[in-house]
Amino acid sequence: MMTQTLYSRTIETPRRDAVYQSVAERLKHYDEFRIPFNTEEITEQARRCMTCGIPFCHNAGCPLGNPIPETNTLIAENRLRDACYLLHAYDNFPELTGRLCPALCEAACVHGINNEAVTIRQLELEITELGWNNGWIVPQPPTTKTNQRVAVIGSGPAGLASAQQLARAGHHVFVYVKSDSVVGILRFGFHDFNLV
Ligand code: SF4
Repeated sequence: MMTQTLYSRTIETPRRDAVYQSVAERLKHYDEFRIPFNTEEITEQARRCMTCGIPFCHNAGCPLGNPIPETNTLIAENRLRDACYLLHAYDNFPELTGRLCPALCEAACVHGINNEAVTIRQLELEITELGWNNGWIVPQPPTTKTNQRVAVIGSGPAGLASAQQLARAGHHVFVYVKSDSVVGILRFGFHDFNLV
C-alpha cells in the first residue's frame, strides 16, 4: 500500500544553528539570549532528516536512545505536540539535554557525512520550550499507588529522573539532598546562563 507523504524532504536546505542576541544586547540582562526558531523554521529543519534505514543518530549517537528519526518525522509533519510527548517518553528533561548535551547524535548523523548534520539538539530544545509555553507538558500522576516508600539520594539529574519515574510508578518518593541547593550538578556544574 502506498503511504501518503505529508511533506517534502528538503535535504538541500542548509542547516540552521541556534541564533543568539548580539553581545551588546546580552550585556544588558541575565535572561536567556537564544532567539527561538519560529514554527516554519522548526519544521523546515526537521525535514532535512532523511529518516535513515539505519539511523546512527539513534543507534550509535544518543546515549538515551532517543527515537530521533520518529521525532523528526512528527516535527516535519507539524505534529509538534506529539513530538513533545515522544521526547518526554525517552528523556525526563529534554529542556536540559536540549541545552547541555554535547549532541553525539549530530556527530553520528548520516547527513553529516557529505553535508551538515541535522540540528537535532536544537529541535529538541525548541519543541520542549514550545511544550512549556503551550501547556503541553503536564504531570503524569500514577493511576494507582503502591504504598511503597523509596528514598533517592541526591537531587542531580539522575536523582530527579529516578524520582520522577518512581513517582509515576506509584511509589512515595523522598529525595535527600546534602547541599543547601537542589539539582546538584545543574546548580554547581553549570553557569546560570547555560540553563536560562
Ligand atoms: S542519522 Fe541524521 S538524517 Fe539519519 S535519521 Fe538520524 S537525524 Fe535523520
